[in-house]
Amino acid sequence: MSILILLELWCIRTKLLSERITSKSMSSKKISSEKPVIEKLPLKELAEKHFAAMRELRRTIHKNPELSFGENKTMALVASEMRRLGYAVKEGIGKTGLTAEFAEQECQTETSQREKPIKSKVGIRADMDALPITEDNPHDYCSTNSGVMHACGHDAHTACALGAAMILADLNKDGLLPDFGKQIRFLFQPAEESTNADGKSGASLMMEDGALEGVEALVGLHVFPNLPLGMIGLKEGALLAACDTFEIKILGKGGHGAYPEDGIDAIVLAAQAVQAIQTIISRRKSALSPCVLTLGGIRSTTYAPNIIAEAVEITGTARYFEPALHELIRSELERALAIVRALGGDYQLFYKNENPPLINDALMTDAVRQTATVLVGKENIIEPTLQLGSEDFSFYCQKTKACFAVLGAQIEGDTRNLHTPRFDIDEACLKTGAALLAGSALHFLSRDSQ
Ligand SMILES: [Zn+2]
Ligand SMILES: [Zn+2]
Repeated sequence: MSILILLELWCIRTKLLSERITSKSMSSKKISSEKPVIEKLPLKELAEKHFAAMRELRRTIHKNPELSFGENKTMALVASEMRRLGYAVKEGIGKTGLTAEFAEQECQTETSQREKPIKSKVGIRADMDALPITEDNPHDYCSTNSGVMHACGHDAHTACALGAAMILADLNKDGLLPDFGKQIRFLFQPAEESTNADGKSGASLMMEDGALEGVEALVGLHVFPNLPLGMIGLKEGALLAACDTFEIKILGKGGHGAYPEDGIDAIVLAAQAVQAIQTIISRRKSALSPCVLTLGGIRSTTYAPNIIAEAVEITGTARYFEPALHELIRSELERALAIVRALGGDYQLFYKNENPPLINDALMTDAVRQTATVLVGKENIIEPTLQLGSEDFSFYCQKTKACFAVLGAQIEGDTRNLHTPRFDIDEACLKTGAALLAGSALHFLSRDSQ
């Protein structure tokens, strides 16, 4: 095969790969980049005005963290705050989540709804759950719920969305909110970090309860302790990986440690299986498709110097961007595990998809980018590299034009990593976050008025 044919095939493959992992095609209606409506609105000033209130709310939520599906106090606090701002609230969406909209939307009679064409809405999403981590921070608003901590910044996301609600309510009160600005729905979701017994996290349950009905586009964000304050990360197409998790049970035959010939040692079987699994990434998939496979835990059902182990349990995760890798990794695990049958043992594999890859929509990412340009300037917008972390925001991306932004929240000279007991942010990021959420939703909606 000539080098030219090889090169051509390579180009076609690369194009196919990038199409597979980049966003859905642009919608027919583009957003004008000339003089965005949001440029005329005092978004930054209002974010500054409400900063103290946002910070206070963030600290209250931080002090009272609640685990996935247990966000009852947080839901009540957010609901009362949204009602105070004049929004109509529906609680208990996705179990312990809520949605909120401008009250006028809820008050429309059936007749008036029939007379007006139903306009699509834009959603603003925040997650509210905490993690099972014991906080080790020096500040005076540490978690008072022992062993539970907002170590992923969901307290900040909730505060940013509440700040966006404050900004929009103020614009409305001052007569500055364009008519289309009422077409915004807030989604405060539970359980981003965990799933229920059916394997569903908060995003899926919110959607099952209708949170996305009538929503054409959605914006969300995540604080990032490695990105300097004042910066925003945006990336069209794939941003975060899909996440699969699995449990393996290796089955042998127990026995006395002195007589291994009478048993089938599950520890030795597991050692062979672990080696075989390590070859999946290097030998069984294309090097052009990023993927990581981690075995995060291994334990024998017995632990003694003189017992042949009857069973060994292994748990792990796979992260990737191409949806086809879900089936490939699952089937290759089966193939690797077959080695234990050849050696006289057996295995069970429980494999499940937690989150699909997060693919940012081109049109909504453009709206967020134009808003970010107004707020922080082009020079403070970066394109993050692909991240192998995952987020259940990806489920919304499958159903609507969604964009997930990365919010710079670094404490100067210090990086407090996510999911650690010392995680923390520079709270000044709340201002940028709130203005970005409100502004992006307004900017997307403004295309209908241009
Ligand atoms: Zn997290
Ligand atoms: Zn998170």
